[in-house]
Amino acid sequence: MSGKVKIPTWADFPPDFPPFFLDPAGCVLSVKEIGKNTYALVSSIMNVDNAGFVVGEKGVLVIDAHISVPMARQILQRVREVTDKPILYLVNSNYHADHTFGNCAFPAETLIVQHRETAARVPFHQEARDFLFRCTGSDPHIWDDVTLRLPDIVFADHLTIDLGGGMVVELHFFGAANTPGDTITYVPHAKAAWTGNMTGGGTFGLAIETDAPTFMGTLSRFIHALDAETLVPAHSPLSGPETLWSGINYYAQVTGAVNKALGAGWSLEETLARTPLGQEFAFSPTDDRLKLQQARHRYNVRRTYLSLTGRI
Ligand SMILES: [Zn+2]
Repeated sequence: MSGKVKIPTWADFPPDFPPFFLDPAGCVLSVKEIGKNTYALVSSIMNVDNAGFVVGEKGVLVIDAHISVPMARQILQRVREVTDKPILYLVNSNYHADHTFGNCAFPAETLIVQHRETAARVPFHQEARDFLFRCTGSDPHIWDDVTLRLPDIVFADHLTIDLGGGMVVELHFFGAANTPGDTITYVPHAKAAWTGNMTGGGTFGLAIETDAPTFMGTLSRFIHALDAETLVPAHSPLSGPETLWSGINYYAQVTGAVNKALGAGWSLEETLARTPLGQEFAFSPTDDRLKLQQARHRYNVRRTYLSLTGRI
């Protein structure tokens, strides 16, 4: 993706779209070993960010910095409970505030690693604050001590980082999905992958800045390139690769439905009305997340319709 960088605002969402729940108040990160020297940091609150770290002979690589300085300090504490080796690298899965605002709390010697599309958007600090503030709950001072920290290493397609002692971490960009720079952090010997916002929120991710065929292509490249058995999504419980297949099926359905609508000459409103969320992708009707899931689906259909008609 290239061209002028534009950060989404709430004006790009339908007025009834519910804010994402990212309030870290009371959140405890617990360490879950998912392979040799490979640890997921699992949030105690549903939807609030997970993170993780990998330990090699030379030092540590952390995946995602969380939403605030206290949450980043919690990550550092959890690392210190496992190892006293230096934190050499911090990878941001995407540019959103809940993945990058903790960057400033990491030691000065830690190298921040980002995909180039993430690096292009991180400087829009105020826009990121404006976008996520309504998702952060009750604390008006959540970002008082956050400062912008830019990357030290920027990559394009993939990057291999050798932490020593046979601990190798691969960073992959398979294309845009939830954001233009979604990064997969893969640990081959553990067959584990941090997927950021690409999977999760239940059965499918949200195509905030892309569309259904783009998201589907990215997931397809991911599933064919990596042998990941454990996925650590940023906003939902750990899963297996079945969530990638589920995402591909979902986005194939949306792509097909919107193409059919365009072939039939339906308006956007008609398309939205005639393209309900498939039962296999919905939570149960009694689950309060169903409303959010339906709102995400409508957003994905709308975004795809507008994209395929060249309006965005
Ligand atoms: Zn996120």
